[in-house]
Amino acid sequence: MRAVRYHGRGDIRVEEIQEPGSCGMGEVKIRPAFVGICGSDIHEYLHGPSTIPSTTHPITGEKIPVTLGHEFSGTITEVGEGVTRLHVGDNVAIKPNLFDGGCAACLGGWVNCCDNLGFVGFSGSAGGLSDYAVVKENRAVKLPEGFELDLGALVEPLTVAWHAVNRSSIQNVHARTALVVGAGPIGLAVLLVLKARGVENIVVVEVASQRRELASSLGATRVLDPRTEDVVATVRAMTGNAGADIAFECSAVQAGLDTALKGIRARGTMTILSLWSDKPAIDAFDVVLGEKHVVGSVIYEDGEFEAVIDAMWSGKLNPRALITSKIRMEDIVEKRLQILNPRPRQPDQDLGGHFGMKVRDIQGEWDEY
Ligand SMILES: [Zn+2]
Repeated sequence: MRAVRYHGRGDIRVEEIQEPGSCGMGEVKIRPAFVGICGSDIHEYLHGPSTIPSTTHPITGEKIPVTLGHEFSGTITEVGEGVTRLHVGDNVAIKPNLFDGGCAACLGGWVNCCDNLGFVGFSGSAGGLSDYAVVKENRAVKLPEGFELDLGALVEPLTVAWHAVNRSSIQNVHARTALVVGAGPIGLAVLLVLKARGVENIVVVEVASQRRELASSLGATRVLDPRTEDVVATVRAMTGNAGADIAFECSAVQAGLDTALKGIRARGTMTILSLWSDKPAIDAFDVVLGEKHVVGSVIYEDGEFEAVIDAMWSGKLNPRALITSKIRMEDIVEKRLQILNPRPRQPDQDLGGHFGMKVRDIQGEWDEY
């Protein structure tokens, strides 16, 4: 079968490999339909291996070359012994995180913070960018009949945003104003989730004009270019000089982090979703004087995939505009990955080209901010 495999930095190949055999106990075999290419795939291509282990992964027992593709939907083609919840022909979205179940974080119930966190599509031979993938039954979440499979590939990144909004204490605080710094796919997903969950005023900050336009069309209340507009002053003017109730850092640059923290009110919450290459500084004095909350958010927890699928199915959450183009698996290296290399890109360069979506930020976007 065909598979898109990562061999190391700058080396991704479309190859013929052995099709996985029959499903084992509790496993399901999936024919992937649509796969999102994530910023973390591109990060591995340009700068890795980092998330992808160069040594054997403790959960899968496998190492490079690994099959890529962790944001995907597909159809069940076979079920192993003991599988009761899923059947051949079911359409599913993949919940790709793998955890050991035995570390302190897992025992505490926070499997998304597992010491040995792994992913389908990063940590072994199973990945969405292939003709077939075999995963445990509990990694496949059934989609309602009629749920479109291209949207199914967006469930994973939207759930990253859903979890971040949960982490921002939106359940406990009546958040009226939110600030989203960075409008790559994750920032845009946060915008859509905030809207779906009833936040009235959402200010989006972004340097790339195409993304600002997209944020506007997706319903942001205000969209600001931080190079030419004073974000903190604007947010204060909108909130009786208080600041936003909650902010989301999705830019992965120091200036973005500073803006998110300065932009929230006293006892407001800044939730950081960005993955960082460098260690950013946090203005601890601002945190102290404003009694501000700084929260991290990584992937998702049990129940959140289902919540996102429900929100999409009911029409409250409509991410179709995040899909900019679709390409075939065999064209992925040429059409999707090479376009991002060499850097730097122009801020307005077309970022389309996804196996399902989208427009993912890499840090070069924000270098001039
Ligand atoms: Zn663990």
